[in-house]
Amino acid sequence: MKIVKASDLTYDYVRHDEEGNEAGSIRAVDGVSLEVEQGEFIAVLGHNGSGKSTLAKHINALLCPTSGTIWVDGMDTKEEEHVWDIRQSAGMVFQNPDNQIIGQVVEEDVGFGPENMGVPTKEIWERVEESLKAVGMYEYRKFSPNKLSGGQKQRVSIAGVLAMHPKCIVLDEPTAMLDPSGRREVIRAAMALNQVENVTVILITHYMEEVIHADRIFVMDEGRVVLSGTPQEVFSQVERLKELRLDVPQVTLLAWELKQKGFPLPDGILTAQDLKEELLRLKKAGWRLDRKDGAEWRSDWNM
Ligand code: ADP
Ligand code: MG
Repeated sequence: MKIVKASDLTYDYVRHDEEGNEAGSIRAVDGVSLEVEQGEFIAVLGHNGSGKSTLAKHINALLCPTSGTIWVDGMDTKEEEHVWDIRQSAGMVFQNPDNQIIGQVVEEDVGFGPENMGVPTKEIWERVEESLKAVGMYEYRKFSPNKLSGGQKQRVSIAGVLAMHPKCIVLDEPTAMLDPSGRREVIRAAMALNQVENVTVILITHYMEEVIHADRIFVMDEGRVVLSGTPQEVFSQVERLKELRLDVPQVTLLAWELKQKGFPLPDGILTAQDLKEELLRLKKAGWRLDRKDGAEWRSDWNM
């Protein structure tokens, strides 16, 4: 079952002059076609202005396509009678945690979504409890949100979406304003939802380290999806990613540089553990990994 399917999706922001007349438009999403299976963990990468947020807002029916079509859980977002159901199927978490939390107490905030949906009171409390547990924030349920760290607030935002029992969560740079430990907390929570609850996760991020566990990555540039595949496939293309002004995970870059120096390493190494294993393999095969003669790398490999 495809939870999201876009076909030639295009979106133009219309600009207006001071008198309110149309003064040109900006094409933010340009002919995007893609499919996401229920239960996938998808990462979306791309530099600023590449159209990631505009695409994300279509998945939540916050924007309606200028042309082309996007279906969420089989529903065409252009059909107004589906908007409510679409927003329940696909929840969104944004960058700034302070703009998303409205409750005075954590548990009350998480309950707003299901309450608005007309869920019976007893079930609301069950959902609040399970959602807070899923993101590891249950012991903070009686806290005031402004006593929480950024990472904790984002986890409460995620719980708020989760309480609506969505099939899909779209996280638009949820970690951009967080410190490294807050980032880890949020990514761990998102991964747990995906693995334990089988919620489809679409994570938009700038941080390469956050995408290495994704099932698939879409890379956007100028409104188009220009590269897609597994993390290993995408990060095998170091030069292409550099052209797209994107970083590469540090470990991948190190492996790539070693490869340029002549070490026979596979493309798309993503984790320190993988690199360690590959280097041990080389060492066993007789390669010297230390530097000799100044800057020259040498191997004692003889076939
Ligand atoms: P990203 O999330 O990848 O940074 P966006 O989807 O926010 O990219 O933006 C894509 C393009 O659309 C950019 O050129 C941006 O300037 C433009 N844009 C985004 N939001 C608006 C808006 N509300 N009005 C006009 N142009 C916009
Ligand atoms: Mg954005």
